[in-house]
Parts: sequence; C-alpha cells; structure tokens
Amino acid sequence: MPKTSNFSVLKKLLAKPKDIVIVTHWSPDGDAMGSSLGLYNYLKIKKHSVTVIAPNDYPDFLNWLHGNNKVVNASVSGLQAAKKIKAADIIFCLDFNALSRIGELGKEIAGTAAVKVIIDHHQQPEDFADYLLHNVKSSSTCELIYDFIQLMGDTKKIDKKIAECLYTGIMTDTGSFRFPSTSAKTLKITAALVEAGANNSEIHNRIFDDNTEDRLKLLGHALVEKMVVLKEYNAAYITLTNEELDRFNFKKGDTEGLVNYPLSIRGIKFSVFIVEKDGIIKMSFRSKGKFDVNTFARQYFSGGGHKNAAGGASNLSLEATVNKFLEILPLYKTELIGQ
Ligand code: 5GP
Ligand code: MN
Repeated sequence: MPKTSNFSVLKKLLAKPKDIVIVTHWSPDGDAMGSSLGLYNYLKIKKHSVTVIAPNDYPDFLNWLHGNNKVVNASVSGLQAAKKIKAADIIFCLDFNALSRIGELGKEIAGTAAVKVIIDHHQQPEDFADYLLHNVKSSSTCELIYDFIQLMGDTKKIDKKIAECLYTGIMTDTGSFRFPSTSAKTLKITAALVEAGANNSEIHNRIFDDNTEDRLKLLGHALVEKMVVLKEYNAAYITLTNEELDRFNFKKGDTEGLVNYPLSIRGIKFSVFIVEKDGIIKMSFRSKGKFDVNTFARQYFSGGGHKNAAGGASNLSLEATVNKFLEILPLYKTELIGQ
C-alpha cells in the first residue's frame, strides 16, 4: 500500500513561500529530471524559491526540459549546492530512497534540520524523511508528482511546462508505455497531461530521435560484437570497456536503454549490461516476468531498484565481474528456465 503520511500538514506548510531544494539521484534519467523539473515548475507557480540539484551530469536529450538552465549540477558547483541545502526549509528527494544514491549530497542532507520529503517508487525506502509519498506500483516518480499535486488540490494548475516534464518521466520509465508498470491510472494521468498541453509526439522525438551517428554505431557494435546470449539460462549480457566507449566518442546517455535490447530476443528473461565507467564497473539489470533483479542486484552487486529493472556496481575488474556473474547464474537456472 502507498504510504501517505499526513500531507495535509505539508500542504499547510507550503501555503507560505519557502526556500525549497529538490534533489534527485546520481546519473539522473528521464524520470529523475522530469519529476524534479515538473515539481520545480509547480512550486514556482506557488511562489516558492526553488532550486533543483542534480548530483552529476545527465544526458543532452534531457536539456530541453523546462527549467533545465536553472539546475545546479553539484559535481560542478558543489559549494552552491551545499549552500542551498543548508538554507532550505524543505528538501524534496525524488526518484531515490537511500541517501547513498546521491553521493556526497547525502551527508549534507542528513545533516540539515530542513523538512524532508521523499517521493519515490523504488523498493525498500530508507527512513530518513518526514514525509513519504511512496508506491512501488507507481510507474514513475512523475506519476507520483501528479498524485502529489492532486493531494495539494492543484491539478488545475498543471500547465504545459509541468505537463511536458511529467510526461517525459512517465514515458521513459514505462519504456514508452509498454512495461507492466503502465496501469490504467498511468494512462489516465498521461491523458490529463496531454490535455494540459504536453505534446506527446514532439516529446518522443526530443528524447528518442536525438541520436548522434556515434551512438547508433556504438549500439550496433554492442549488439553484433559484444552481446552474449546464454540460451540455457534464458539470459544475455553485454559488456563495454573504456576503450570501446572512447572509440565511439561516448557521451553521457549513449548507453541508456542498451540493456533492453537482449530482452527483445524470444525467450530471454534476464539481461545484464556491464560497463566500465568513471573507474568503477556499473551494471544494469532487466528482467521479464517473475525474476526479481532488485533482489539479485542487492544480494550480489550492492545495488537495487525495481523487480524488473535495477542497477548495481562492482569494484572488481570487468572480466572478474563477468566471471562472478557467470558463477552466480547457475543458481538461478531453474527459476529462469521454469517461467
Ligand atoms: P539503470 O540500470 O537504468 O541505471 O537503473 C535501473 C533502476 O535501478 C533505476 O530505477 C535506478 O534508479 C536503479 N539503480 C540503478 N543503479 C542503482 C544502484 O547502484 N543502487 C540502487 N539502489 N539502485 C540503482
Ligand atoms: Mn523512476
């Protein structure tokens, strides 16, 4: 059940202008930035002073989101971010629920007296906030921001800017409305966002038809040269090294969605993408059906996420990480074959 703790008290608190910080997770995606800027544009209409802080950089295809030019990137402007956090009356934590997901900012936020609000749909939230709007059944944090605006009695205030930001996160987190997390409610909210001015076709173009030639060639390389299909486990994985990323002039976001391709092979239930990034090995896990990648990522690769989409990391080498994965996989053979 969704936990909605006393939002009428928060509503009263928000009746007067406040200094507000919105922070989202490390390596923000469409839902992270869409929810942050959707909430930003809403709170601005309500006359608050609002700052969105991203822990680090995010893909260029999100740069058109309304309010993007005001986002503080903490990995570039750490002091400014710290100052804003210190001065905030209220801090919204969006699309994550463990302070470890925001790097150094976690300590700064834990150390303030600001009222803290988590709005999130990931499994197993940590207990660090005063208010929690949390539902693992929600397609996206953007869907929950719509719920939040509704709880505040303000759906009529949703304008084109808010609607386009929220539409973006719902679209990206549902794989363009095809994952099982897409509920009738998701589609009703999406329809309301289109009615409020979100141009669905244009947003799709801005997000998905913004590739560079290099990015498409990297995808081709990954699928032809680097995808390993393990039919006996209904599983597949792709690895990419630093040199390969360099060869295709890798830019942030270029490997986004790559992990989904093996899942489109008939019978494949479990897909893993393993990449060398910033000195560590980053992993993405995706599954179809019952196989729970959140538990898998938590148990073996210090990660987490959702049942069918999770991430993690490894401090072994790329090769050793693949070997570790291949050693674990047989433990799940029955589960993966049996579905
Ligand atoms: P992605 O594979 O796209 O990076 O992430 C898939 C999902 O897992 C996202 O919802 C993301 O927030 C979550 N996730 C990714 N990496 C980590 C991680 O290292 N730890 C946790 N707890 N969640 C992660
Ligand atoms: Mn999300």
